[in-house]
Amino acid sequence: MTTQLAMNPFKVAQAQFDRAADQLRLDDSLRQILREPKRELIVHFPVQMDDGSSHTFTGYRVQHNMNRGPAKGGIRYSPDVTLDEVRALAMWMTWKCATVDIPFGGAKGGVICDPKTMSDREIERLTRRYATEIEPIIGPFVDIPAPDVNTGPREMAWIMDTYSMHHGHPIPGVITGKPIEIGGAQGRGSATADGVVICVESAARHMNLDLKGARVAVQGFGNAGQIAASLLHARGAKIVALSDTQGGIYSERGMDPDSVNRFKQEHAAGNRRGTVTTYTGSNIQHVSAMDVLTVPCDILIPAAVEGQITSENAGQIQAQLIAEAANGPTTLEADDILFKRGVTVIPDILANAGGVTVSYFEWVQDLQRLFWDLAETRQRLGQIMSRAYDSVAAMASEHHSDLRTGATMLAVQRVATATRMLGIYP
Ligand code: NAD
Repeated sequence: MTTQLAMNPFKVAQAQFDRAADQLRLDDSLRQILREPKRELIVHFPVQMDDGSSHTFTGYRVQHNMNRGPAKGGIRYSPDVTLDEVRALAMWMTWKCATVDIPFGGAKGGVICDPKTMSDREIERLTRRYATEIEPIIGPFVDIPAPDVNTGPREMAWIMDTYSMHHGHPIPGVITGKPIEIGGAQGRGSATADGVVICVESAARHMNLDLKGARVAVQGFGNAGQIAASLLHARGAKIVALSDTQGGIYSERGMDPDSVNRFKQEHAAGNRRGTVTTYTGSNIQHVSAMDVLTVPCDILIPAAVEGQITSENAGQIQAQLIAEAANGPTTLEADDILFKRGVTVIPDILANAGGVTVSYFEWVQDLQRLFWDLAETRQRLGQIMSRAYDSVAAMASEHHSDLRTGATMLAVQRVATATRMLGIYP
């Protein structure tokens, strides 16, 4: 596989699927169905900017598979969004929902834009117009979007409002990741990181790795990375490195991620979200964002974007355990290198599935208009994630494969069974 091919997330997702399909001896007709997205929508739409001009943006919504339930997947705002990236993320969502055995298919959306250069009003107009453009293919029983990179509860509230306005009544079940006050779930904010930590604990037990004092490096200090760092720190792990788009920080003695976060917020003026690189401390070294992947540590948590761990740096990674909070951070070639080196990789479709699992809880509660407390959410999340980890580990061990192939096989088998039972329409 050429590097260019390896860096195309959809090619990576398809190659991962092929690997699992080969092991499962999946028949050709099912392979053809599951290898491609079911539906792809491309929209070009104008947004009025604050200076009175209008700018035309491009957005996507891709639904990969809906045979186990309505499609589910986040919406990403970034200048780097591509159709192939959204296709890959949609396919991974199908496998993720099947891995944790929740009744959803997979979808993903994205808009090519740089929200850091836009005002709040411009982001709101863009969000409402994008929601309107994709409205023909979303809905509480069709496709339920959620937050992803650079979108959060605020954008989800605007999407719910836009959809509800067009239908004349409140429809909270069209979107998850909303503020609690309008139908959001308790615990959604930390759910992805909670799930990452449950998986890390399971893997650490399996590897006889003591979390107390274990050195942890985290790439990406947003929703997933910052909370995962904080939860692991609270369990006694030593957070030795953190990074974001601006660069990284390293401390052999460890740092308190909550202080870094407070510092980042306080220094956010002029830079809407702040950066870890402004953090100062006597033992802090400034390193590049990429260096954070290869610093001395026991556990590495990529929590930024895809394509970060490649054949170029997989050989230098010092961690014995990698938990993929991000979607698609590891290329296929890198996976092979890490497997040969004995590094355990908890794949994205398992490690970060806590987010979609609590999104599922949110959707169920919205449909029933009956809400659970945090304790119930945590208890159900723990049950689903631990069961999924054990099923994936069992599949991988049975087939002498890495956890990614084990998870993909488990998921593909579930989706293939549903697809076979439903048959081909008409
Ligand atoms: P976010 O926007 O809150 O944070 C992303 C962080 O990554 C930011 O700190 C950003 O500066 C940093 N970053 C981006 N590119 C980087 C790079 N090249 N090097 C270092 N840092 C970089 O996003 P998030 O919601 O935390 O999502 C992060 C990843 O986790 C994504 O891959 C997303 O798909 C995945 N994920 C998130 C959730 C969720 O519930 N938030 C659920 C499942 C998966």
